[in-house]
Amino acid sequence: MSPAAAPEPTSLLEQVDQAFEKAAALTSYPRGLLGQIRRCNGVYRITFPFKRDDGSIEIVQAWRAEHSHHKLPTKGGIRYAEIVDEDEISALAALMTYKCAIVDVPFGGAKGGVRIPVQSYSAAELERITRRYAYELYKKNFIGPGIGVPAPDYGTGEREMAWIVDTYQSITADKLSSLACVTGKPVPLGGIRGRREATGLGVMFGLREACSVAEDMKAIGLSAGLEGKRVVVQGLGNVGSHAARFVRDAGAILVGLAEREGAIHAEGGLDLDRVLAHRSETGSILGVPGATDLPRTDLALELDCDILVPAALENQITVENAAKIRARIVAEAANGPTTAAAHEILLGRNVLVLPDVYLGAGGVTVSYFEWVKNLSHVRFGRLEKRYEQQSHQRLLHGIGAFLGRDFTPGEVEAMARGPDEEDIVRSGLEETMIRAYSELRTLGLRAGLGLDLRKASMLSAIHKIARCYEDLGIFP
Ligand code: GLU
Repeated sequence: MSPAAAPEPTSLLEQVDQAFEKAAALTSYPRGLLGQIRRCNGVYRITFPFKRDDGSIEIVQAWRAEHSHHKLPTKGGIRYAEIVDEDEISALAALMTYKCAIVDVPFGGAKGGVRIPVQSYSAAELERITRRYAYELYKKNFIGPGIGVPAPDYGTGEREMAWIVDTYQSITADKLSSLACVTGKPVPLGGIRGRREATGLGVMFGLREACSVAEDMKAIGLSAGLEGKRVVVQGLGNVGSHAARFVRDAGAILVGLAEREGAIHAEGGLDLDRVLAHRSETGSILGVPGATDLPRTDLALELDCDILVPAALENQITVENAAKIRARIVAEAANGPTTAAAHEILLGRNVLVLPDVYLGAGGVTVSYFEWVKNLSHVRFGRLEKRYEQQSHQRLLHGIGAFLGRDFTPGEVEAMARGPDEEDIVRSGLEETMIRAYSELRTLGLRAGLGLDLRKASMLSAIHKIARCYEDLGIFP
C-alpha cells in the first residue's frame, strides 16, 4: 500500500456500497431510485434467552435483514458465527438482492445471522436456538413461502433447515405451501437433489464458461479451457470442497488448498479425496503425504497458479496482499472475499475477477428450484422421465432400423435415459450460469468495462431492479 493511499474501509457494507456506487455512476437513473435500490429495506434485531444443557441461561443476539422487496419473497441464508453483526448481515442481504437479479431468480435479497460460537454448543443447544430463531422470525412476519425464505449459509446446513421447517409447520395455518418456507432442506423433508453441491457446481460452470472465451483468456495470458488450469482453493467447507471437486473433474489441477488450520501445496497436483480423508482422520489438512505444508494459511492466496478460488469468508484479498496474488483469474466463491480497493489493484494487474454476485449464485438458483418444487408438490422429472425415455427409445429403434442394426442395451440405456430430478436441476443451473455469463460479458463490453465483470454485474443488477420500480410507475 502506498503511504498516500486512503485507509481501506473494513466493513463489508462499505465495500458493497462502493461497488454499487461505481456501477450506479455509469447510469442515468434518478438518485432517489438508486438510493432505493441500494438501501436496506429493514433489519430485525432479536435478543432471546436459551437454556444451555447444564441449565444455565444465555442470551443470543440475532438478525434478519431484508434488503429489497422489489420481488417477493426475500431470499438468503442464515449465518451462525461468533463475529456476525448488523452491518455484515445487511451487506450480505444486499449481495443477495444483486445475486438474484443477475441470474434472474425472482426474489428480493435477505440474510440472517445468529451470533454464537457454534463449535462450543451441542446439537440439542443448536436445535433450541434454531427453533427459537425461526419462531421469532415467524412472529414478526419475516418468514413464509411468499414473505421470506431462509437457506443455509456459513455455519448452518440441512439439519438447521429441517428444524426451521418443522418449527414453521407446527405454528402456521398455511399447511399447503409451508414446505416452501425455507430451502436447503434434507431431501426427505422437501429438499431437492443437487442443492447441497449447487454453489460449488455453479462455480465450476461459471469458471468453465469464462475459460471458454479464447479472446478473454488470451487477454490475460492463458489458453482457452478449464482443462489443465492450476487451481488453488481457499476454504473446504460446503462451497469450497464441492467447487474443488467439480473443477478437478473438469480437468483442472488442484495445486493448493487452504483451511483454517493451514495450507498445503503440491506443484504436480493434490489428491482431493486423500486430503479430505486425511482431514476427517486427523482434523487437519496439514501433513498429507506428498504435499508441502505452508507456514501460514493466507500464503495459499499468493501461490503461483492460474485460478484462485476464495471460498471462505469476506475480506481475504485486501490492499495488503492484492499485489502479491499470482493467479490470472480470481473466482469468488465466497461472499465478499475481495475488498473494493483490492479489486482495483487486481484489475490494474489485468487479473480477471469473477465476482461473488455472479459466481456464487448457484446456491440460490437451486434454492429457487426447491421453492418451485415445494409449491408445485411434485418432484422434477416425475411426469416426463418415462415419457421421454420411451420417445428416445422409439427414435433409436427407428434409427437402428434405418442403419440395419440394433443398438445394444447399454447404448439404449446411455442414449435414451429420461432425466431425473438431479439431471434437471444441474441442467437448469448450467443454463442459468451460462446465460448470465454471456449477458454480463456483453453488457460489460457494450459499456466499455473491459474485463471488469464486477462493475458489469452490479450494472446488470441495477438495470433489472430499476426496471421493476419503473414498471411500478414509482419513478419516471
Ligand atoms: N447462503 C447462500 C448464498 O449466500 C444461499 C442462499 C439461498 O439459497 O437462499 O447465496
